[in-house]
Amino acid sequence: MDVVNPATGERVDTYETQTEEDVDAALDRATDAFGEWRERPMRERERLLESAGDVLRENKREYAETITREMGKPITQAVAEIEKCAWACDHYAEHASSYLGADHHPSPPGSTVKTVYEPLGPVLAVMPWNFPFWQVFRFAAPYVTAGNVGLLKHASNVPGCAKAIEEVFREAGYPEDVFQSLLIPSDLVDEMLEDDRVRAATLTGSGPAGRSVASTAGESLKKTVLELGGSDPCVVLDDADLDAAAETGAWARNQNGGQSCIAAKRFVVVESVYDEFLDRFVDEIDSYVVGDPMDEETDVGPQAREGLMEEVHEQVEESVEAGANVVIGGEPMDRDGQFYPPTVLTDVPEGCPADSEEVFGPVAAVYEVEDEAAAIEKANDTQFGLGATVWTEDRERGENLARQIDAGCVYVNQLVKSDPRVPFGGVKESGYGRELAEVGIKEFLNEKTVWVE
Ligand code: NAP
Repeated sequence: MDVVNPATGERVDTYETQTEEDVDAALDRATDAFGEWRERPMRERERLLESAGDVLRENKREYAETITREMGKPITQAVAEIEKCAWACDHYAEHASSYLGADHHPSPPGSTVKTVYEPLGPVLAVMPWNFPFWQVFRFAAPYVTAGNVGLLKHASNVPGCAKAIEEVFREAGYPEDVFQSLLIPSDLVDEMLEDDRVRAATLTGSGPAGRSVASTAGESLKKTVLELGGSDPCVVLDDADLDAAAETGAWARNQNGGQSCIAAKRFVVVESVYDEFLDRFVDEIDSYVVGDPMDEETDVGPQAREGLMEEVHEQVEESVEAGANVVIGGEPMDRDGQFYPPTVLTDVPEGCPADSEEVFGPVAAVYEVEDEAAAIEKANDTQFGLGATVWTEDRERGENLARQIDAGCVYVNQLVKSDPRVPFGGVKESGYGRELAEVGIKEFLNEKTVWVE
């Protein structure tokens, strides 16, 4: 696996791809490790997770530089990603026991009935490059602490991150093979899913990859969690704080080079504030520093790997051919690396790529709608259902509107973000299952009823 720095186009590292035989041996080791790991007291597993958080904090600069070198995330955002992973470790180190304490049920006199939570075994995680540490810790911190063991198949452009994460667990003192990173191509995933030693799978990534993993796992009757794409609406109502909506909305669209599943992608603005919002939004985006992701001043770096910038540009071109208007950006930048400028489109016709597909780059589609009812209709006019934002100074109105949007989460007067304390996941083609919080740690467990008479 060649690692190419997307900011320069230079090859910076090469890793050897692992083979089917390596996978077979890794599955044996994972099975052995599970036998011992599941017997460890929960308190011990929590303490190890706390140490993993410490290792992340101690080495955050080094890990952040690996992220930036491999996928081009601006360094300040990469450091923040590592800190967030440490927070997830702290969260489950503190709460796993209480999340998984036995539930007692009303029972007939003389009997005791409870649910106990037991791990399933080795869980395969197929992960994307866009938050190459966070997506992995979001799965590993809860599932491994619950007593499962982790097998990571990371995206092929971030092998250094995959190995560094394995190292975090080793340095924290985990037993060997409780967490393993496999540097394998995606065509070995099906075999792993069909193998009895793998007990469940989680995938964060695109719809096609999710469908493939879900259907193979389904054939073997294995549970999956899928965190897929999104085209989140950001609704701006007539009573919104327009400065906050423009500033936060612009950042929600452009952080991480626009490569976030929960980025606000479609801005739906009621006509009475449309012109004012658009002016402030474009001014804000125009102020971003686009450039070297290792520079602390940079806001927007390159797209993460070759081919992605071209895909984004094709979507913009097709949308423009269909009638969309480019207010700012719209052409690849004239420099080395995969740089696409923050772009704003208006008059976006229904059904063009910027309207109906997920655009995984710094491209905002802004719509003018008549009123609140039309805003809700436009917000829901998508195959996706991951997150959404609503801007209004009336909190009750915001909450009412939130309930009418088909999404896994709706944030009022705040950008959509994942947070270890609250469940995260989507509906419709954004996937199923939930990560994080209490519901997240319970996704891959045997909820066993024990009835004692
Ligand atoms: P991707 O192409 O689906 O890749 C994600 C992972 O799946 C990679 O490890 C990839 O391996 C693997 N993969 C690809 N095709 C596969 C197949 N047929 N069978 C098994 N594994 C397969 O997605 P991406 O382009 O890297 O990531 C961007 C997508 O992820 C966007 O749609 C984004 O919205 C979504 N995403 C969702 C969330 C969420 O929480 N909902 C979070 C982040 C990203 P290779 O790299 O080896 O191909």
